[in-house]
Amino acid sequence: MRKKLTIVANWKMNLDLDQAKTLAKVIGTEAKHSPHTVGIAPSFPFLLPVSENLQGSGVLLSSQNVASTENGAYTGEVSASQLKDLGVQTVLVGHSERREYFQESDAIVQQKIKIALDHGLGVILCVGESLELRERGDEESFVLGQIKAALDPVSAEQLPSICIAYEPIWAIGTGKTASAAEAERMHVAIRECIATLYTKTLAEDLSIIYGGSVKSGNASELFTQPNIDGALVGGSSLKMEEFTAILKGKV
Ligand code: PEP
Repeated sequence: MRKKLTIVANWKMNLDLDQAKTLAKVIGTEAKHSPHTVGIAPSFPFLLPVSENLQGSGVLLSSQNVASTENGAYTGEVSASQLKDLGVQTVLVGHSERREYFQESDAIVQQKIKIALDHGLGVILCVGESLELRERGDEESFVLGQIKAALDPVSAEQLPSICIAYEPIWAIGTGKTASAAEAERMHVAIRECIATLYTKTLAEDLSIIYGGSVKSGNASELFTQPNIDGALVGGSSLKMEEFTAILKGKV
């Protein structure tokens, strides 16, 4: 069931408006011919214009972040209900850049997940270890700890609204990719953890995607791993030809 891939473009704080609209149009056209679930996460101000250029394409509109509170005096924040109003379907939560540069703790990640789910948004939960943790051999316990903390308030009924993105920090934007075997090993561990926390069936149906310097040259090998269900793509998603080649990656 889960072998339909989920491939999400994380544009981060890149592109101007014209570039974003043009790229969205191309991705939308490509997605219509793709058997996979395709998503785009533009910057907040571009959500609406990008969504206009995605009309009828089936591409999931994603935001890169969501506030951990409902509404009120939180200057600079964007709430889950405001995102829903714009037609956002899914949100990235716990990206390592947010954890590192904006001090997002596991507790904040947990609140964001809860609020997103309460508003009917899907969640792409990002987890991943630093190079230091990997070199110490602690990567698995760290990643599973992040998952257990983040999913604490998530019921079995809500789990199908979650997708987990395993993104080793040392592979993000560095050009270094985890080998397909390394990534697969972690995805297996994550799926086993979900089976323990929930049920084997829910674990089998969960999409676990990989992120970290995915490009056209390594996507196919990653996608042939039985437990890698797609990719969260940063740098390569800004390049039209690269991203469309990734979308065509064989399973
Ligand atoms: C990301 O930031 O989610 C990411 C995977 O970036 P990159 O593909 O550039 O490593």
